[in-house]
Amino acid sequence: MGQISSQALDAALATVIDPELRRPITELGMVESVSAAEDGTVRLAVLLTIAGCPLRDTITRDATEALSGVAGVSAVDVELKVMTPAQRQALRDKLRGPGAQRVIPFAQPGSLTKVYAVASGKGGVGKSTVTVNLACALAAQGLRVGIVDADVHGFSVPGLMGITQKPTQVDDMILPPVAFGVKVVSVGMFVVGNQPVAWRGPMLHRALEQFLTDVYFGDLDALFLDLPPGTGDIAISVAQLLPTAEIIVVTTPQAAAADVAERAGTIATQTGQKVAGVIENMSFLDMPDGGRMELFGSGGGAVLAERLSSAVGTDVPLLGQIPLDIRLREGGDAGKPVVLGAGESAAGAALIDIAAKLATRPRGLSGMKLGIEPR
Ligand code: ADP
Repeated sequence: MGQISSQALDAALATVIDPELRRPITELGMVESVSAAEDGTVRLAVLLTIAGCPLRDTITRDATEALSGVAGVSAVDVELKVMTPAQRQALRDKLRGPGAQRVIPFAQPGSLTKVYAVASGKGGVGKSTVTVNLACALAAQGLRVGIVDADVHGFSVPGLMGITQKPTQVDDMILPPVAFGVKVVSVGMFVVGNQPVAWRGPMLHRALEQFLTDVYFGDLDALFLDLPPGTGDIAISVAQLLPTAEIIVVTTPQAAAADVAERAGTIATQTGQKVAGVIENMSFLDMPDGGRMELFGSGGGAVLAERLSSAVGTDVPLLGQIPLDIRLREGGDAGKPVVLGAGESAAGAALIDIAAKLATRPRGLSGMKLGIEPR
């Protein structure tokens, strides 16, 4: 048996990514020791952030697989240990910078994360389905993406993404579960069973603030907020906590739906936020005979985009029209967003197209209106 070099073991471990923090375990101070015996047995001691780390099996499996690939290794023995408070502090300093303040990283000057608050006038128009699919489409393109499910009373994002795992709490830092490359936090992860959440304004504001400060998202290219329908407290809180968040309004083609959605969009004139665009969902149904049925009428999205453009004084584009599609609904029910499928579905293609438009939108504050209106 040849000598196994410690460099080779380190290099193998550097390929093991912590599933929550999305960085190599070697960088995170999680490798306490690694050594190889004469007979090719490698002993690895991994330091987990917390004892009940839900991803211990994943880390063990990935580390075993990586080390088994090193020439000369015959067996791998992984011991899982837990970080001391000092080691956890060092990890937090590494992730957030030493002595970091509790701030909302996405609200800091210089933050390059595009924040999209997805709003709708009323429930059931597909706001959450659209949010999840856009986020997954961008993550599939290699962007770093997060979702805050701020639809406090009707949270559905974990279900749409098949997430059952709870976030891991490391002292005052919350590590969000990751699904399809998207980091997700939802009120639904903090309630027991399927309990309704009876929070009111100030509590909602605090919950959202905590999600935005204490959840460790790391560097993100895009953060989506799934807002509750309507123009409620959360929309105002988002504007206060994340003034640069841009609003995406989801509506159906129905004139009445576009009317209520307009109210959700024009809130931007009061808060000084930008409206990134309108998405029309459930636009039509392609029939087996090649025909097209407009179940909810037509034109609502275009009318809404026009009205919002004149209300906010900047061009609000219609970002796309998503057809009714059984596969979109089935993907949601199965916890596997349709954009990740073969991409054959019409709804998936429309969503991927919208995601591409968002990905290529310029970053920065140009076009922002100040929250002051002459009377
Ligand atoms: P909201 O977040 O606006 O309340 P959801 O995203 O929960 O709406 O969607 C409501 C329901 O409509 C879900 O069952 C979803 O699967 C379905 N749905 C949404 N958009 C479409 C579509 N384009 N085609 C078929 N079903 C859709």
